[in-house]
Amino acid sequence: MKIMKFGGTSVGSAARIRNVATLVSGKENKGSLVVLSAMSGVTNTLAEICGYLYNRNPDGAKETMKRLESKHLAVAQELLGDNSAHPCIQEAFDSLAALTREYFGPVQEKIVMAQGELLSTKLMELYLQQQGVNAILLPALDFMKLDNQGEPDLPYIREHLLPLTQVPCDVFLTQGYICRNAHAEVDNLQRGGSDYTASLVGAALEADEIQIWTDIDGMHDNDPRVVEKTRAVRHLHFDEAAELAYFGAKILHPTCIQPAKFANIPVRLLNTMQPDAPGTLIDNVPEPGTIKAVAAKDNITAIKIKSSRMLLAHGFLRKVFEIFESYRTPIDMICTSEVGVSVTIDDTRYLSEIVHDLKKYGTVSVDLDMCIVCVVGDMDWENLGFESRVLSAMKDIPVRMVSYGGSNYNISLLVKEEDKARTLQELSRSLFADAQR
Ligand code: ADP
Ligand code: ASP
Ligand code: MG
Repeated sequence: MKIMKFGGTSVGSAARIRNVATLVSGKENKGSLVVLSAMSGVTNTLAEICGYLYNRNPDGAKETMKRLESKHLAVAQELLGDNSAHPCIQEAFDSLAALTREYFGPVQEKIVMAQGELLSTKLMELYLQQQGVNAILLPALDFMKLDNQGEPDLPYIREHLLPLTQVPCDVFLTQGYICRNAHAEVDNLQRGGSDYTASLVGAALEADEIQIWTDIDGMHDNDPRVVEKTRAVRHLHFDEAAELAYFGAKILHPTCIQPAKFANIPVRLLNTMQPDAPGTLIDNVPEPGTIKAVAAKDNITAIKIKSSRMLLAHGFLRKVFEIFESYRTPIDMICTSEVGVSVTIDDTRYLSEIVHDLKKYGTVSVDLDMCIVCVVGDMDWENLGFESRVLSAMKDIPVRMVSYGGSNYNISLLVKEEDKARTLQELSRSLFADAQR
């Protein structure tokens, strides 16, 4: 079986829903399980509604609900050419309206957030059936379950999903993102979680392939909205994809990688607008000695703590890390010497408190507006030559930190944000000069 996940951009309008319907009902996709996101923008609007309800502003909530209801009614009308979907859309929004009159807390919030996927899958089901396609909607709330640690309960998912897929049909449909928690309340897999659903159901069903369909061709090393020249990468190891996911490669949600990697199921990123384009294949097959991509992330802050007392002192790093932990601030890159340690963070909400606390242990200096540039590929330490190619490309650019050895798949460099474009160009020139891509 094949899992096919379509994101919000792929089901964002009546025309796009039709396009997906044509794709999934093709002969070659018969019997696939199709996972859908909410139409693009809908989950954000639902979050806005929750904001109004938390702030006890029922009028703001109602007005936003009305807008969202009209949007769904219009798409349904255009898609189906009639008002057959209207009763279920109205029912969903009537139940949301009822929430404006009650206590509003996290349980109710999850119910609101689930509506986008419930509606997009309903519209797809009705349209496929109207086209004579035998489509069966499998409610994610019947099998997607979190355990009492809040983690997906894979054995439960398998046990409850497998029997549902044992009936003949053209297309199975289900909602991405939504699930139930250990108390059987409606919950979700966090924003962007539809990719995670696809990966989890793929692992549960031992699928042949998990396809993530979006509106651009394959995984790019950088967000094309931010970096001018990006490179589509055609094949990645799961660990390389995991390194890239941090660098704004939002096309695949980071959580999606683990279940597929462990179940050894290839993930293919494909473009809804060009279904025959090659896309990107992610699997467990290494390409020895190949460098795949250079990615960058802005808005990085570097913090250096220098202490003569650190020399040979055990427990110094623990104390430093505890300060970051107490402010729930993740550290991304780290370099140490005998007398100091430099770390980077991208969440600066507690920067001044962190710097204040660090001063107990040494002299602290901060560099703002930095950028991590990360080279991803097979960089096993016994491979020769790649470090010198990376560093020689940087010969005219000031480098604040270098980190290598954390994994076999990356070297990270910290440079000034103003040097980012130059760094990406120099590295690409030096590392991909002879690549055919
Ligand atoms: P979907 O709804 O299909 O999940 P999203 O709107 O969540 O899509 O995100 C996909 C969008 O993110 C694409 O339209 C693309 O422009 C953008 N994007 C961000 N980072 C990357 C990247 N590294 N490679 C490709 N696209 C990216
Ligand atoms: N609709 C959800 C969101 O926007 C889940 C997803 O699209 O992956 O976060
Ligand atoms: Mg998305």
